[in-house]
Amino acid sequence: MLAVVGAGPKGIAIAAKARALAAAGLPAPRVVLVDRGEVAGNWSGRQGYTNGLLPLGTPPEKDVGYPYPASWGAASADVAAAMAEFSWQRHLIRHGVYGDWVDRGRMRPAHRQWSAYSSSLVIAAPDPDPARPGNTSITEGEQ
Ligand SMILES: Cc1cc2nc3c(=O)[nH]c(=O)nc-3n(C[C@H](O)[C@H](O)[C@H](O)COP(=O)(O)OP(=O)(O)OC[C@H]3O[C@@H](n4cnc5c(N)ncnc54)[C@H](O)[C@@H]3O)c2cc1C
Repeated sequence: MLAVVGAGPKGIAIAAKARALAAAGLPAPRVVLVDRGEVAGNWSGRQGYTNGLLPLGTPPEKDVGYPYPASWGAASADVAAAMAEFSWQRHLIRHGVYGDWVDRGRMRPAHRQWSAYSSSLVIAAPDPDPARPGNTSITEGEQ
């Protein structure tokens, strides 16, 4: 098992890659993300880093799988395809707004939209110690 402190985009990307490796038939650890707050909370507008309405600075195509490198030998294409399931475009397709996003010029999402996209890639497990101060949650990447 691989434990990562922080359920921001970096931790989520690690969990997603582990899922992609497993989907491609490669050995992969179970990844558990531990956060003291919400998943991708620093992007939500509720934790003081942003008001949530500012646009993402980098293109959303630079999502959790970017740059989809061919780092896995003969399995590289399968790993990249599995990572694409976690892409921004897939997220929009799942919500029925992909065509609208393309037709409107592939706008930069707001930070809170990026928070929602990132959060959609993980499942939450209950805090093992609800009496603990703060709002710790444990999450794991899912496909
Ligand atoms: C609002 C905002 C906008 C950004 N815009 C861009 C952009 O457009 N392009 C770009 O490339 N980068 C941007 N960044 C930079 C961003 O930090 C990087 O993209 C980086 O890859 C994200 O890494 P992260 O997941 O570690 O950070 P974060 O998203 O900051 O996540 C860190 C997580 O760790 C948790 N945490 C911290 N300390 C503890 C602890 N002691 N115990 C438990 N949990 C803890 C926090 O609650 C948080 O959820 C932005 C960052 C923010 C916050």
